[in-house]
Amino acid sequence: MSSVDAVTAYIGLGSNLEDPRQQVQTALQELLVLSSSCLLNCSSLYKSRPVGPQHQPDYINAVATILTTLDPYQLLDHLQALEQVHGRVRDGERWGPRTLDLDLLLYGDSMINTPRLQIPHPEMVNRAFVLLPLSEIAPMEMEIPGKGVLKSLLEDLAEGGIERLE
Ligand code: ATP
Ligand code: CA
Ligand code: CA
Repeated sequence: MSSVDAVTAYIGLGSNLEDPRQQVQTALQELLVLSSSCLLNCSSLYKSRPVGPQHQPDYINAVATILTTLDPYQLLDHLQALEQVHGRVRDGERWGPRTLDLDLLLYGDSMINTPRLQIPHPEMVNRAFVLLPLSEIAPMEMEIPGKGVLKSLLEDLAEGGIERLE
């Protein structure tokens, strides 16, 4: 029998509809029981201004770390199924409001560039609502493949529009 190495993956959570705080808390509970995976850590919750269309509520965001033997596409399947459980509706508006968004930010040190999946998540290094929660649970010296070291990416980040919640 062959064994599969477990990989550390980081998942970005976001919600701005139907009790966003509860949506994110529930999603973290669901990640706790994700198949072939184990939830290692999660950040505080953050409140952030929307990217893209401004005519929508603020977001609640967090980042979680899992250890998984799912391959990245299987993991994305599970994350998208969870978005559906939360009643996510895709009406075609880019960056429109949603009950739950689960982005696969990092999958070990993999770099993937396919139509369905890009890793690292292409926008993660430009987003305070990803890098700030990530910096709570990942080493500051961590290399984001193809992008740089977390510490310097944080230093380059534009300030504002985000608040850590107690
Ligand atoms: P953004 O990707 O800029 O954060 P978004 O989260 O609003 O925007 P979605 O509508 O949730 O985008 O996803 C659009 C598509 O992105 C998905 O169908 C999925 O196949 C693809 N995708 C590519 N890379 C990733 C990734 N790393 N994590 C999640 N989805 C991804
Ligand atoms: Ca997203
Ligand atoms: Ca997404």
